[in-house]
Amino acid sequence: MVISGGGIGGLATALACARAGRKVSLLEQSLVFGEVGAGIQLGPNVVKVLEGLGVGDALCRVAAFPAQLEVRNATTTERLGVLPLGRTAVQRYGAAYATIARADLHMLLLEAVRAHGGADLHLDSRVIGITQNAHGVRVETVQDQVFETPLLVGADGLWSQVRKHVVENDVAPRATGHLAFRAMLPQSALPVSLRTQVVTAWMGPDFHAVHYPVRSGEWLNVVCIVNGKVSGDPESWDHSANAQELRSRMAKARGRLRDLIYAVDQWRLWPLLDRPPMAGPAEHAKGRIALLGDAAHPMRPYLAQGAGMAIEDAAALANCLSESPDQVAQALSRYADLRWQRNARVQARAIRNGEIYHLKGLQQVGRDIALKLLGSRLMDVPWLYKGP
Ligand SMILES: Cc1cc2nc3c(=O)[nH]c(=O)nc-3n(C[C@H](O)[C@H](O)[C@H](O)COP(=O)(O)OP(=O)(O)OC[C@H]3O[C@@H](n4cnc5c(N)ncnc54)[C@H](O)[C@@H]3O)c2cc1C
Repeated sequence: MVISGGGIGGLATALACARAGRKVSLLEQSLVFGEVGAGIQLGPNVVKVLEGLGVGDALCRVAAFPAQLEVRNATTTERLGVLPLGRTAVQRYGAAYATIARADLHMLLLEAVRAHGGADLHLDSRVIGITQNAHGVRVETVQDQVFETPLLVGADGLWSQVRKHVVENDVAPRATGHLAFRAMLPQSALPVSLRTQVVTAWMGPDFHAVHYPVRSGEWLNVVCIVNGKVSGDPESWDHSANAQELRSRMAKARGRLRDLIYAVDQWRLWPLLDRPPMAGPAEHAKGRIALLGDAAHPMRPYLAQGAGMAIEDAAALANCLSESPDQVAQALSRYADLRWQRNARVQARAIRNGEIYHLKGLQQVGRDIALKLLGSRLMDVPWLYKGP
């Protein structure tokens, strides 16, 4: 099989499928494997899948495992609710809640793929041509390599080329009107009062911020989401950002959040794009071509599950292929049936969360009262954390 894209989704697929006995060729357009300096939260549903892929120990070595998630009002600093994680997550859901640097997650998957040996990894191999017939798929790269394969997986992210061969009359991803400012820095570079080992979500009018420990708790990842647009080409994913601009957009933040924003000088800026929730299995696979991760269901990051769903997709795809090793189209159809509703539900819930996080006026007051009364019952997501 051929996988287009060597991000977190593509590498998880290479690992899951190689472990299931498939011969894998992974094509990545970049000259080197890598990920940007930002963090990622992994719910118990995702940690469980990673453990099943044999990378649980590697995860323990580099991730942080926060004891709780706190929600605070960003303008009053009042704590509105607490969701216990740590041992509680393990007892409730059978796996921990982890927070990790993206580069560390990417590297541990890459090392596991290399150690397994069942996948050929091709860098500088941008997929530019795809032709499907009843017997297989022909894949061409910009370097004129040609792969004849029984199965192609599009794990090529938001601007997927493979997607065009699965989804008819597709349209471009949509701008959400939200910008993400991200920073990752050693906790030792911060005043002691700002160092923390818990996940904290701050909700303000028209903005919110989330920070959590990564790198065994030694670093802190911070992401601030504000309303706004950037000019220029949205395909250029990363932007240099202005700390001053963030401070003015979050002028209403108070207390530790305000101190943190002023303590960080270097922010990277992302415009956030997504697609509407998946409408059916036809958006996941067609014949011998499957989509996974952001290629299939790019989502807003307000449930912290985009990479998580890519990893769940990878495991589900490998299982379906194992169940019908010689019936590729049947296996992909089963994969699509199994995955699309859960992915659509996560996409929809992420949109809803963003609306709740940014409420203003009386609606904000109502939200805060509900959180104070119901706390962890509103913050917990059992249908998600239990796994598919
Ligand atoms: C601010 C923010 C915070 C987030 N926080 C979280 C979180 O806490 N938890 C979580 O689970 N998710 C989170 N996410 C979502 C997560 O980052 C994505 O869902 C995830 O990285 C998608 O992985 P992917 O492998 O599908 O796509 P990508 O990471 O986009 O990888 C695609 C790969 O394909 C390659 N490629 C593209 N085109 C081609 C081609 N033609 N040929 C060959 N290669 C190609 C690219 O170079 C890239 O390596 C967050 C996202 C944002 C923006």
